[in-house]
Amino acid sequence: MLEVTDLTVAYGPIEAVRKISFRVQAGTVVTLIGPNGAGKSTTLNALSGVAPLHGGRILLDGQDISRWSVHRRVAAGLVQVPEGRLVLAGMSVRENLELGAYRRPRGDVAADIERMEARFPILHERRNAAAGTLSGGEQQMLAIARGLMARPKLLLLDEPSLGLAPLLVHTVFEIVGELRDSGLTILLVEQNARQALTVSSYGYVIESGRIVLDGPAADLRSDPAVIRTYLGQGV
Ligand code: ATP
Repeated sequence: MLEVTDLTVAYGPIEAVRKISFRVQAGTVVTLIGPNGAGKSTTLNALSGVAPLHGGRILLDGQDISRWSVHRRVAAGLVQVPEGRLVLAGMSVRENLELGAYRRPRGDVAADIERMEARFPILHERRNAAAGTLSGGEQQMLAIARGLMARPKLLLLDEPSLGLAPLLVHTVFEIVGELRDSGLTILLVEQNARQALTVSSYGYVIESGRIVLDGPAADLRSDPAVIRTYLGQGV
């Protein structure tokens, strides 16, 4: 579904991502792991079009979207759930969901909101609450649901478990697994490498803007270098 070749992103003179190439097969979860500042979020931002591309090519279903605007990519099914959730704090839960579907016909939207509220009952209970009053875990559910409202075919999920209590981390990965089982394709960025590799079929390790290792997630989970660096105690 996604084929990225020699992707390069620079902020001024600093190349945050250097000529990385990777693929995501339809119906799978692929994860990018790596230390802070490795370039993982930058990669997702370049795919969604919010970070400037300095080189390389992005193919979505064989179509070159490298120069497309953000909204055109969203319309094509490439939807990002950003790090830090970024829900609109002063707007209600329901309004946040509606915003996820702002490019779609109204009639469709009501049915999708019902589906989201069935999948995430807390969003139904809190539908009239300001999004900023939700807990971190609830905001993460809302951010994912808002992304789903755009009817993605490829969901870019940036650090969905960041800052959540262990029980909620577990819930977030359960949701990722459920979305995968429902046929959604997901590119996941995670610090929580162990759980990310458990829910994924393939993984790439990014360090200093380059891919240093990749392989089936099960192989990465048993790779001594990955274990030493990313799967140590407490990770
Ligand atoms: P983290 O897990 O901490 O988010 P990451 O792997 O996602 O790390 P990025 O956020 O992509 O890493 O950052 C890659 C590099 O680019 C870092 O050196 C970071 O400081 C730099 N960087 C990121 N965003 C910007 C920006 N808007 N302007 C300048 N430099 C940036």
